Amino acid sequence: MTQEGPATPGSWEQRWHPLREEWVIVAAHRQQRPWTGNTVAAPAPTPVAFDPGCYLCPGNTRISGAVNARYAATFVFDNDHPCVGPDAPTTIVPPTPFYRAAPAVGVARVVCFSPQHDLTLAEMPPAAIAGVVDVWRRQTRELGARPEIKQVLCFENKGEIVGVSNPHPHGQIYATSFRWKTFDTELDASARHQRETGRGLMADIIRAEQRDGRRILHEDEHVIAFVPYFARYAYEVYVAPKRRVAHVFDLTDDEIASLAGALSAVTVAFDNLWRMPFPYVQVLHQAPTDGGDHDAFHFFIGFNPPLRQPHLLKYLAGPEIGGGNFVSDTSPEAKAAELRAQPRVHYKHA
Ligand SMILES: [Zn+2]
Repeated sequence: MTQEGPATPGSWEQRWHPLREEWVIVAAHRQQRPWTGNTVAAPAPTPVAFDPGCYLCPGNTRISGAVNARYAATFVFDNDHPCVGPDAPTTIVPPTPFYRAAPAVGVARVVCFSPQHDLTLAEMPPAAIAGVVDVWRRQTRELGARPEIKQVLCFENKGEIVGVSNPHPHGQIYATSFRWKTFDTELDASARHQRETGRGLMADIIRAEQRDGRRILHEDEHVIAFVPYFARYAYEVYVAPKRRVAHVFDLTDDEIASLAGALSAVTVAFDNLWRMPFPYVQVLHQAPTDGGDHDAFHFFIGFNPPLRQPHLLKYLAGPEIGGGNFVSDTSPEAKAAELRAQPRVHYKHA
């Protein structure tokens, strides 16, 4: 690993995050500081293709008693332990005056990406990943059309380090009666940028990344993937369509094929980096579905990896939890260079 010192340009500075409108402190010169704390255990051994005890594998019975379809590609079902759902109590205990509460209505669903228990996105062919994107497209449209749903949050938590003990490839969907904070922040910034400059905010970000070029991981006619200049996490990656759409369901089939290719390229690079299933939180950044004017919003997918070195967690502490801004211990250029250097073929298939 390159030894970076305080004198290395770009390794110690503040960078402006234009979508969140906040500063990120890049303090990459601290990456090599001594570490005597806990490290993260290596992931569990490779799972099998079918696990009779898995609640996501085809044909298995879940804890609710429901039986999974013998699906061949993707499979969507209502979460058996929903955080929002139709069964949430509608009678709310009136809080102390001044405080507010509301029923936890909404829909929580699970999306199985593949019938194969041991096949992550990184090892799925792009055509199969396009099938997953198509599920996000249909689910966002269907759930977003419900009058009580203000926003549809699609995400994937991958790896034990982010709390997922089941390796079966799957994501989740939370369709809620409220709008999620992150996307409101991005929407406000995008709308203001559009008003003040007449240009799209993500379009300007993409243009800046193309002009620099060092952090681009993958690009074709429709889609670009890059480590953003203002990355908060080591190995943070944005995957964005070049055409501005507010929701994944506005993408054409050609754009979805490109998006799937980019998701494949990024997740293969992740796994190849340390030759292990690479943990991350993957989030679809979409506009609300509340009927408002969200034309300024530019849909993209963000990968937030929690590890900054193999088995070394990026802890969120005083600055992040307390102050609300990130201190990044890594240089986005150096992390992008590591990902760009990875073979295009998954290490298990090489
Ligand atoms: Zn399974």
